[in-house]
Amino acid sequence: MADAPITQDVLTIPRKQPADSSGGGKSNLVGLTRPAMRDALIAIGTPEKQAKMRVGQIWQWIYQWGKRDFADMTNLAKAYRAQLAKHFVIEVPEVVSKQVSTDGTRKWLVRIAGGHEVEVVYIPETDRGTLCVSSQVGCTLTCSFCHTGTQKLVRNLTAAEIIGQVMMARDDLNEWPIPGEPKDETRLLSNIVLMGMGEPLYNFDNVRDAMKIAMDEEGISLSRRRITLSTSGVVPEIAKTSEEIGCQLAVSFHGTTDEIRDKLVPINKRWNIETLLEALRAYPRGRNSERITFEYVMLDGVNDTDEDARRLIKLIDGIPAKINLIPFNEWPGAPYKRSSNNRIRAFADIIYNAGYASPIRKPRGEDIMAACGQLKSATERARKSRKQIEAEVGALRD
Ligand code: SAH
Ligand code: SF4
Repeated sequence: MADAPITQDVLTIPRKQPADSSGGGKSNLVGLTRPAMRDALIAIGTPEKQAKMRVGQIWQWIYQWGKRDFADMTNLAKAYRAQLAKHFVIEVPEVVSKQVSTDGTRKWLVRIAGGHEVEVVYIPETDRGTLCVSSQVGCTLTCSFCHTGTQKLVRNLTAAEIIGQVMMARDDLNEWPIPGEPKDETRLLSNIVLMGMGEPLYNFDNVRDAMKIAMDEEGISLSRRRITLSTSGVVPEIAKTSEEIGCQLAVSFHGTTDEIRDKLVPINKRWNIETLLEALRAYPRGRNSERITFEYVMLDGVNDTDEDARRLIKLIDGIPAKINLIPFNEWPGAPYKRSSNNRIRAFADIIYNAGYASPIRKPRGEDIMAACGQLKSATERARKSRKQIEAEVGALRD
């Protein structure tokens, strides 16, 4: 594959455009909101009076039953099915490769329009199965401990590409229910976390539209409590997240002074700890059990002292919170080391004794580099290694 241009700008595919040209100019129905799908159906001649009902029917076939072929939509007239097939496709990102960890974690590399690639991770646990979804190719932010943040190439994913990751995973897990048969309520894919590649709040509209589809009762039908959006702290979008999406919120906190957080999560220079906490205090919650998750990556000798733990507790005072301690997932060339298990436990104890839940995230899928902050597309890795090779060859010549 030819090298893609390196740019720090976010390339956004216009939202109304077909997700992929492979459909022969046909537009993709996946990712459209209900009103947008209604407009699309009317535009191909569906009578306005019927359009809402048709959206409901097609929506169910796509998102409830996982159908990709209009011919399977048996409650629609044959001629109408043919008309739909003439104008539309039902398309999800193409799987390029799949790896399965010894602990059952699955990681897919999927290809999206323009030949870009993103990673999607599925983490099975005893009581749930969580899909870690990407919102951008790479990330414009440059958190110093995050592998994705070192990727130069960035573009926003479309709503189709975001919800398409969920549909692709359900394909691979083989868990689309069969029409007419009782639904199996024990879901393999029961939770979504927007914790893959990218900053979801820098791609707000597409993330919102995709998560609305995930929550839609006639669709994928996941409760808003089972969807968690993680942000590095894009303050102006935090209130909007609650108003327009209504999902659970996680915040990449990672530092207890502006000095250290500026270094770890550079967006802190724009919206500092105090501003961020103000926005979080205002984040409404449906019930007391809905707490904000503070993610805190444990970096050896950087942010992991007892004093840090105590400062953290003071800072979040009054916010219904749980603190998720993430042992740093190392990647080749990373400038940090993971804190020792003893250090992490001591930190967790201080937080727990102050009355907060402080789960330590169990590293999953480490053997396939599927853990948080390790995701980076294969194209980028290939390009980097070619560059490295060139540099090495250059050094030999000198
Ligand atoms: N951009 C969003 C969501 C994606 S990152 C955000 O930053 O919140 C998901 C989580 O993984 C974030 O908490 C992020 O800080 C954390 N993370 C990134 N790199 C990591 C690494 N190498 N080890 C552990 N956690 C990491
Ligand atoms: Fe982007 Fe999140 Fe990584 Fe920071 S931690 S670089 S915001 S993906």
